[in-house]
Amino acid sequence: SEIATLADLYASQTLHPSNDTLPNATSKYNAQISLIRTDITTLATDAIVNAANDSLLGGGGVDGAIHRAAGPNLLRDCRRLNGCDTGDAKITDAYRLPCKKVIHAVGPIYDSASARRAGGHEKLLASCYTRSLDLAEESGCRSIAFSALSTGVYGYPSGEAAETAIKAVKGWLEEDEGRAGRMERVVFCSFLEKDERAYERLIPRFFPPA
Ligand code: ADP
Repeated sequence: SEIATLADLYASQTLHPSNDTLPNATSKYNAQISLIRTDITTLATDAIVNAANDSLLGGGGVDGAIHRAAGPNLLRDCRRLNGCDTGDAKITDAYRLPCKKVIHAVGPIYDSASARRAGGHEKLLASCYTRSLDLAEESGCRSIAFSALSTGVYGYPSGEAAETAIKAVKGWLEEDEGRAGRMERVVFCSFLEKDERAYERLIPRFFPPA
């Protein structure tokens, strides 16, 4: 099945080992914007963003990895949240993870009828990024790492997803004068090479090197 294939692919990845408190892999783009290819559960940014499903009760992919690494208290907290709409996000503590908060964002299934009814997958994916940034800011987080929402089992093509993600982050940072100072670092954490390549190609377009 597709899930078994993805699980095999995830298991076979050799990734950048990260013991950094803040990944600083991309000063070539912009001091604020980083790109790293690693297991997001190893990152010690203030917040990490999970690609959850609308039940918030756990799933495969990055969600499974986050719950395994955080321990059972994370699921206990998620149960109390009563799910989450597609395009929205909710925040919890991070328990055994090195980050402080986990933001559970529910991305759209690419080109699905439900996403079309809700205004289109692009709008929903963009709102996952801006809602996550809102929640991070409200909780006093100064750094955030995003997984590549919707690009796994939800089937979003890497390039389209990366462009929407980068545009949404840029728009959010530029919306308010003070924000760029308060959110010191935004990390795009990819896991597969195809996603990393899409970000490498697109980040300089939106965040030109200094
Ligand atoms: P979705 O259902 O939103 O597509 P998935 O978890 O299937 O969610 O995939 C989202 C992204 O997370 C994919 O790009 C996948 O490669 C990536 N991913 C999977 N495991 C990890 C991990 N441990 N750390 C970071 N990213 C991961």
